[in-house]
Amino acid sequence: MTATCTAPVPFPTLVDYWFGDLAPTEEERVDEHLFGCARCSGQLGSLTRLGAGVRSAFLGGAVPAVITPELLRAMKQQGLRLREYPVAPGGSVHCTISTSDDGVVSRLTAPLAGVTRLDLVVVNEPGRGRLSDIPFEPSLSEVLFCPSAAGLKQAPAHTQILRLLAVEPGGERPIGDYTFVHTPS
Ligand SMILES: [Zn+2]
Repeated sequence: MTATCTAPVPFPTLVDYWFGDLAPTEEERVDEHLFGCARCSGQLGSLTRLGAGVRSAFLGGAVPAVITPELLRAMKQQGLRLREYPVAPGGSVHCTISTSDDGVVSRLTAPLAGVTRLDLVVVNEPGRGRLSDIPFEPSLSEVLFCPSAAGLKQAPAHTQILRLLAVEPGGERPIGDYTFVHTPS
């Protein structure tokens, strides 16, 4: 195993590999590479931990997902056109998406020190879902949320409120509410 890689497996190829969408000969080639390459097998490992986020990002954004900074970097490297909206706890932002955008990334600033499990809830749309045990890095104090790009492109003007909840042995502790005032492009 080597830690550096002179011919990294391209990110979309790794995604296809993971979902079993590669042709048999290419799959074999990637198999062999991963066997001998710590860097690329590490990337695959982080992909499999991302789960829904990768599917959302690469299959047309059909479902909302929380993604890692690593995936956001990869998405930018792949040339995806993303609108990014940083919001502080209690803050609000005006947002939109155009037909030529690939997605929207809501950057939720949050104090996450000591948090072990984090959930994201859509407050003002009961039943619209809760993302449980979402990925985050406490040191970055930020959660990256990708709403469904496909859904957002169809949506009329509306306001969505997201809430981050720290899930602790004693119960749930709200970390912050984030308001998105959406206008169609
Ligand atoms: Zn490699």
